[in-house]
Amino acid sequence: MSTARSIDGKAIAQALRNDVADGVRRFREQHGRVPGLHVVLVGDDAASAVYVRNKEKAVLEAGMVGVVHRLPASLSAAQLHELVERLNGDPAVDGILVQLPLPKHIPVEPILESVDPAKDVDGFHSVNVGKLWSGREALVPCTPRGCLHLLRTAEVALQGARALVVGRSNIVGKPMAALLLGAHATVTIAHSRSRDLAERCREADVLVVAAGQPRLVTASWIKPGATVIDVGMHRGSDGKLCGDVDFASASAVAGAITPVPGGVGPMTIAMLLDNTLRAATWRAASLHESAQTGSR
Ligand code: NAP
Repeated sequence: MSTARSIDGKAIAQALRNDVADGVRRFREQHGRVPGLHVVLVGDDAASAVYVRNKEKAVLEAGMVGVVHRLPASLSAAQLHELVERLNGDPAVDGILVQLPLPKHIPVEPILESVDPAKDVDGFHSVNVGKLWSGREALVPCTPRGCLHLLRTAEVALQGARALVVGRSNIVGKPMAALLLGAHATVTIAHSRSRDLAERCREADVLVVAAGQPRLVTASWIKPGATVIDVGMHRGSDGKLCGDVDFASASAVAGAITPVPGGVGPMTIAMLLDNTLRAATWRAASLHESAQTGSR
């Protein structure tokens, strides 16, 4: 029997997307243009093509300018750097997203580091990572920001809570831990070498699972009444999606839980829109400030 409150990511993401669309209208009134997101897609990875199409659609629905640079897999690293440099220098471009994975002959890190940190809507640049961990205003990776937004909207108490993040990737686990720490939780990060994982999970008031392992966490790992955020996304042989948490058993023990699908998934694109609006707003404010300083 299910007792947990289901955290409705679909509805929360839609509300955020509506807020972003309102913000875009205000931005246009103030600046005479709308924010622009440029997505760079290199090669023909089928999953990436679908993700990029979804991003493009969402950006246009929010009233922003969305441009996709679709480039052949034969593109050289130098040519990709040239494009990123051009986008960095273009004042109409507010957000730059280089879709991963890149073809094997292009080293990923130098490309991510070449994006202007002020336009880095994925939040992967080391400048943004450093700012996040030092508690400064930063562009933060979309999925963990989406998870925090779900926790906030569901009014989950974070201050002083014991939070466990399962997974330490740069994209999800580590930034999630930084955000929870910023929200004054007592944070533990677990990974594939962690001992006694089930026990660590049972201690958590807030459990965020981003391990990439289908149904790793079951009911016996969950503290009664805990909040569970399931980042995992897997398609089973039956074609159905499931997460890193066994939703059916876990929801009999947890206090609140995100479903898969319809939990964390829809938040990622909604946060990408919000990050683009943020990047545009912050850049406009800093350009205004430098113009004022220059005219003094
Ligand atoms: P990742 O880069 O593969 O990282 C997985 C992390 O989990 C690693 O730190 C790994 O530990 C740890 N791990 C693996 N097996 C474990 C185990 N048995 N026990 C404890 N820890 C374990 O994956 P990711 O990019 O962070 O993504 C995680 C999951 O979230 C995936 O299912 C992905 O599809 C999903 N995801 C969903 C969205 C969305 O929008 N919904 C966005 C991003 C990712 P080590 O570091 O020791 O290897």
